[in-house]
Amino acid sequence: MHCPFCRSDDTRVIDSRTNDDGTNVRRRRQCTDCNRRFTTVENAVLLVIKRNGVVEAFDRSKIINGVKKACQGRPVSDADLAILASKVEENLRLGGFAEIDAHDIGLAVLSPLRELDEIAYMRYASVYRSFESLQDFETEIAMLRAGLIGEVAAASTTESNISVSDRDGSASLQKQ
Ligand SMILES: [Zn+2]
Repeated sequence: MHCPFCRSDDTRVIDSRTNDDGTNVRRRRQCTDCNRRFTTVENAVLLVIKRNGVVEAFDRSKIINGVKKACQGRPVSDADLAILASKVEENLRLGGFAEIDAHDIGLAVLSPLRELDEIAYMRYASVYRSFESLQDFETEIAMLRAGLIGEVAAASTTESNISVSDRDGSASLQKQ
């Protein structure tokens, strides 16, 4: 491993720590040429098997890009998306598999996205689960409400009318 400052090959490990769940090792290194220190992280490569059979390394930025569209116009920051992607990766790694199906990544996104923003969740779920009718949306909303009964009772909520439009050919939700 090159020193990121002077490109020297001559570096040594001065500290090594495994994180709590054992999924990665951080190593503090020092360059013996320029004496500067840097940290490396070592973790098992998580492979994703795409629908067409192609295998590629898991990439958080792809999660973020996939969710970003569903979050347009919603109060979701880039930091929120970064946290969501790391939660997804964490959950996938905790599953203990070295290879995962691309379809399972979409599934792993649903739960943290629902916690982050319900409208973004509905948009994402409608595409991911290929909602085809109003009934699909109604069922999902009913399930969403059922799971939130405690919170709805605690907070005063205002009803919003939700309609479905498919102007651009893809189903999306709009607030009126
Ligand atoms: Zn150096």
